[in-house]
Amino acid sequence: CGIVGIVGDAPVAGRLVDALKRLEYRGYDSAGVATLESGDIARRRAEGKLNNLAQKLSFEPLEGHIGIGHTRWATHGAPTEQNAHPHATDKVAVVHNGIIENFRELLADLARDGYVPVSQTDTESVALWATREVDRGADPEQAVARTLKRLKGAFALAFMFKGHEGLLIAARHGAPLAVGFGTTEMYLGSDAMALAPFTARLTYLEDGDWAVVTPRGVTIRDGRDVLVEREQMLSQASA
Ligand code: GLU
Repeated sequence: CGIVGIVGDAPVAGRLVDALKRLEYRGYDSAGVATLESGDIARRRAEGKLNNLAQKLSFEPLEGHIGIGHTRWATHGAPTEQNAHPHATDKVAVVHNGIIENFRELLADLARDGYVPVSQTDTESVALWATREVDRGADPEQAVARTLKRLKGAFALAFMFKGHEGLLIAARHGAPLAVGFGTTEMYLGSDAMALAPFTARLTYLEDGDWAVVTPRGVTIRDGRDVLVEREQMLSQASA
């Protein structure tokens, strides 16, 4: 029910959890974060309150300078650790708000190539689809562009890729998502509240938009993959 992301220059795990706390008001049943540790996707997830996740991180810290985080309000699959986001393969990690209506169809197609889910969620279909695109030779942007064209439903998504320590990709279709602008870092958040500790400068994605977010800036494309400019605003939310 909440999404955050940081592509940065200092460890992100603790900051992701703090930002997720600012989205607690939306309600959630489980939470998780993923970072890149020396380029490899690593996750910590927990049922229940964010403190459970924070505790897990204190025993098994993550050091990565890029990461995505999620609070889940389960729609497909019980609120267990296995169903908590981020969903990931060794190549792609994904957090998702909303519902992928055609996930059964996507999973049936993926199964023919041996891509099999380990959760009961609709979301994992997105991680697996993007992974198959990467396995077929797509770079991260191509993988996301191709994946988005197959999704039906309402969603906000954030993607992170193995070996790409300066890249997050975000997409919005019927669920809010904003990009936050720092000086040496960039951020993603479901709303200005989540971004307030990091920056007041933000851009809300419009429906159909997807954004390539790097420490140097952001490029936004619309639903037809045409480059677009979106207005930057100064949020009033306080940190
Ligand atoms: N449909 C997804 C799930 O059940 C995402 C739910 C959410 O928005 O948190 O895992």
